Amino acid sequence: LANPMFKQRLNRRTLLRLCPVTLASFASATCGQAFSNRSPRSAASRLNQDPDLTSSACDSSSTLSQTAGPFYTPDSPERQSLLESQTRGIPIVVTGQVLSSDCVPIANVLLDFWHTNDFGEYDNIGYNLRGHQFTDAEGRYRVETIIPGLYPGRTRHFHVKVKAPHLPVLTTQLYFPGESANQNDFLFNPALLMSMDNGNNIKRATFNFVLGNSSMESLR
Ligand code: FE
Repeated sequence: LANPMFKQRLNRRTLLRLCPVTLASFASATCGQAFSNRSPRSAASRLNQDPDLTSSACDSSSTLSQTAGPFYTPDSPERQSLLESQTRGIPIVVTGQVLSSDCVPIANVLLDFWHTNDFGEYDNIGYNLRGHQFTDAEGRYRVETIIPGLYPGRTRHFHVKVKAPHLPVLTTQLYFPGESANQNDFLFNPALLMSMDNGNNIKRATFNFVLGNSSMESLR
């Protein structure tokens, strides 16, 4: 991913000011080794065929906050695809919306994702499998990445910080349905389960964030 746009770094001031940014849809992801048995063109083509997984339905329950844990790195690159040429693992596309507590989509919300590689390791030196983006005018986000590996003591999960204009940061984690380790994970909460679609060769997941007072957490 040599596109210079992806190299733009997020600093704390940017996070707090949240300058309105409208991201064009990053149409082609270079999936490299993540799709070892598929051509990059066909993989990118499938990645772009998103079903309409977002829903206007909203139960107005604020998304639960969970700890960031010890492996958050600030200033992640701005990008929708976390896939790089050396990335190994099972690709997944995660989509959804960020909504207010009265179910109105929120534009220009910063979502900062980070997670482990296929071996359950975080990159604590660089920004492998870390990246932030902003929701579009309909509050939608889309991240292309791999399914995280497991590490001792935890079930499979994504980490994410969600920062809407004029609202505190929501820090939380997203979980995978059907994981046997969910039952024994001390942080797992079924309210943070993604909906999964395993069809069409590419795994897809969706999760809608609802921001409200109960999801408040200070930026750390
Ligand atoms: Fe973690």
